[in-house]
Order: sequence, then C-alpha cells, then structure tokens
Amino acid sequence: MVVKDRIVRIFENLVSIYSPSYKERAIANHIAGYVDALGFLTYEDNAGEAINGTAGNIHVTISGNADGPCILFAAHMDTVEPSEGAEMVVKDGIIRSKGATILGADDKAGIAAMLELATILSSTAIPHGPIHLTFTVAEEVGLKGAKQLDLNDKCIDFAYVLDADGRVGKINISAPFQDSFEVEYTGRAAHAGVAPEMGINAIVAASKAISCMKLGRIDGETTANVGKIEGGRASNIVPERARFLAEARSINLDKLEAQSKHMIECFKAGTNETGAKVDFKHYRSYEGYSLTENDPIVQKAVEALLRLGIKPVLTQTGGGSDTNVFNAKGLRAVNLSMGAEQVHAEDEYVSVSELVNAAKLLVELVRV
Ligand SMILES: [Zn+2]
Repeated sequence: MVVKDRIVRIFENLVSIYSPSYKERAIANHIAGYVDALGFLTYEDNAGEAINGTAGNIHVTISGNADGPCILFAAHMDTVEPSEGAEMVVKDGIIRSKGATILGADDKAGIAAMLELATILSSTAIPHGPIHLTFTVAEEVGLKGAKQLDLNDKCIDFAYVLDADGRVGKINISAPFQDSFEVEYTGRAAHAGVAPEMGINAIVAASKAISCMKLGRIDGETTANVGKIEGGRASNIVPERARFLAEARSINLDKLEAQSKHMIECFKAGTNETGAKVDFKHYRSYEGYSLTENDPIVQKAVEALLRLGIKPVLTQTGGGSDTNVFNAKGLRAVNLSMGAEQVHAEDEYVSVSELVNAAKLLVELVRV
C-alpha cells in the first residue's frame, strides 16, 4: 500500500527536476523511465512539436486485470517560475522549498501520487479495469498540452485531474469559461512640450477604456481583470502606442458573453474621446464545465474519500485547468485536490500526510 518514505522520495526527485512550461524534456524522461522500470507501456504524443516545446504529453496504460471501468488520471508536468534549482526541505511534517523558488507541488504532488499508484499496481494484486495515466505539458501557459490530447482511442469511464490546490478531499465540480483580450491603441507621437496638440495619446485612450470597465468580482459567478499594460517611450513624448491584456471568466456562459460585450464596448469608448484607433483580439481561452453531486464521477470520488475517512468537499473554482479541456472534449472530468497550498508562491507547501492521502485516494478510486 502507500509507503510514506517512498512517495516523499518520489516527490523529492520530481521537485529537483527543472520543468518550466515548454521545457518538460527532463521531467518527461524521468517519469517515462520510472514507469517503464515498473513494466508498464509508455508513449509520448507529438504535442511538443505542435506547441514548440521540448516534450509531448506522456501516456501510460496499465492494462486491466479484472472487469471494471476505465479510469484516467492526469497531472501536468510543467511548473511556474521561479523554479530553477528547487530543493525541498521537510520540517515538522511540512515540505517546503529550501531557497527562493516555488516548491512545484502544483502539480508534482499529483504526479507523485500517480507514480506511487503505479508502483503499488505493479506489485500488488488489486483488481482493476484499464488505467490510463496522462502527464501533460504546458498547462500553466494556457492548457496547451491538454488541448493537443487525442482521447478518442481510449476507453475512459472516469477522468480525474489531480491539480486542485488545498486539502485532499476537495472536489472541484465546476470551473469557469474564460475569454481573453489583447488590446492595442494607436495614437500619434508628438513632442509633449513643443506640440502636444499634434499628438494623440494612446495611453490616455487605453486609460479611458479601462476606467469605463466593470472589473474585479462582477457577481458570484463572474470575474474580470486587466492584468498587464504597457506603452509609451518617455515622459516628453505623446505616446503613439499602448497595449493591455484583459480577461473575463464566468461559470455561466451568458454572463460571460455579457461581460465580454461590455468590455468590448469600453475598448471602443477609449477611441471616441481621443481619436486613437483600437485593434483587439478576443478569444475563448477555454470552456467551462459544471457537474453536480449526482454525477457518477463525483459520487465515485465521494465514496472513495468517505472510505478513507476524509470529508469530501464539493467546490467551484475560479481557475482553469486541464479539467476544462477534458470536459470541452466531451469527457466528463473533475479536479481533485492534492494537498498543495499557496501554489505559485515561494511559500508554497504540502504536508507529508497530505501527499500520502493523495496517493491513498487514487488507490481507493481504483478500488471503488
Ligand atoms: Zn496546476
């Protein structure tokens, strides 16, 4: 069964491998090598070529040894920065990064749980149907690896993405749709002191647009943000160009479309008063999903947690994950917490007991 020292060692090895988005070659080799040594079939798809990364998604198939549903588990191999030279330390049962890097428990806690499961299945007679382990690339930069997945050749009854933060027991059953905007204003450059009336200030145009927008938490299901802005060259030049990046998210597609429409109207408002021109790109970054407690995939996760004595908590998240892509591809999936806290920050941590619980949960899901 789950061996504490073993999963901690598996996790430690993963943490020490530098694996930023698009540069997953080393960790992909490590995972494939590990699973290969257990005697399971692995293959790498061509997502790496498609998205200009160093590695594709890694797929592992563990054949069934009994009648049972097909289960897919998925975790992503890439981590956010800063993560180069990451090393972990364990103190009082809590695993943190030693230096000024993130730990990378997002999503290496999920990977560790999957590798521990594979280790157990290679040496213990647990009856199970076919099990697929999928390790994706480039999740943190827009779910790029998952979008390349071809799931048609697999039988999958239940798909669990292992990438939610917080204590093991949390089941994310819904996540928002997201729209993204890249907006650029073009005005006219002029000397700010000598001939300001000759200029059209692109920064002013962008500011007018932004100040027109409803942003932040729009309602219980909808959020919006302007997250990056740049433009201009110097204080004595009327700026010719200004650009910003914005997004809107909602669990509810109608509300998202209303918010996006409102933001687009504001982009145009920025041009009216200034005479600047606006160009923008608007695209759906990912589709949302919404499951209920009655969904068999949710019921199965609840039952596995209850058997382990862990309280299941059904939640909705404001973040996107590979789970969104699986659902958009027609495969019902939920996102399970793997115990990582403060993800994407240097004080990210995971406790040893949560790592163990994460692996126990996978074993129990196979059993249920
Ligand atoms: Zn993640």
